[in-house]
Amino acid sequence: MTIRIDVLTIFPEYFTIPLQNSLLGKAIKEKIMEVYVHNIRDFAKDKHKTVDDTPYGGGPGMVMKCEPLYDAVESLKGNNSLEHVILLSPGGQLLTQEKVKQMAQWKDFVLICGRYEGVDERIVENLITEEISIGDYVLSGGELPALVVIEAVSRMIPGVIGEWESVMNDSLYDGLLSYPQYTKPAEFRGIKVPEVLLSGNHEQIKTWREQQSLLRTKKKRPDLFYKYQEKKINEPKKVE
Ligand code: SAM
Repeated sequence: MTIRIDVLTIFPEYFTIPLQNSLLGKAIKEKIMEVYVHNIRDFAKDKHKTVDDTPYGGGPGMVMKCEPLYDAVESLKGNNSLEHVILLSPGGQLLTQEKVKQMAQWKDFVLICGRYEGVDERIVENLITEEISIGDYVLSGGELPALVVIEAVSRMIPGVIGEWESVMNDSLYDGLLSYPQYTKPAEFRGIKVPEVLLSGNHEQIKTWREQQSLLRTKKKRPDLFYKYQEKKINEPKKVE
């Protein structure tokens, strides 16, 4: 079943090149994924196509209005189940590989890209089902975060990446960082590739890579390492 993603934005042009090129472009062309980008302005009723207004109570900047966003989401009825209507927001749950894997199982979802000072809180409370953040920093709009979500989810859909093994070897797939990679030449400016990788012994290479993956994670991302260890300890044991 093809996953369908509907994106609501006031800058649809942001998506043109990323959705037409590379692996994402190929996945869309081959109908492994369907991504539709909708301009929120098309749902503004006034002649100036207004999507924002000043905040009640005063303060700087503008706020995205309820009406166009509600109408834009409701226009998707029949094409999108609207079970998952997501607002990209710096206040949302941090995107993780676990979340990305989960989203790749969904049949469809909607991504709303905020702009200005964000959206009217009634949208957060009544229209959307969850908020996702791509990191603890603030961008000017939800377009780049939406592209991050789409690309990360795409990698978890079988058929998008040629070899599934490469997805499984990626950092974070199993909660650990990836092992180090080397390519030719075997010696560069006196720096050698680890001997074991030239040995042709697949069993030894596998063991070395697993160890490297654990060591690197412990060194670079101890938070992930301890989470991984905890998960392993709590995993149900196979009864012989
Ligand atoms: N005043 C808002 C706040 O403090 O939460 C920030 C608004 S930001 C300038 C405009 C839009 O960019 C947000 O509505 C959101 O859609 C998007 N955005 C900014 N940073 C983000 C992040 N880290 N993750 C996801 N979306 C983000």
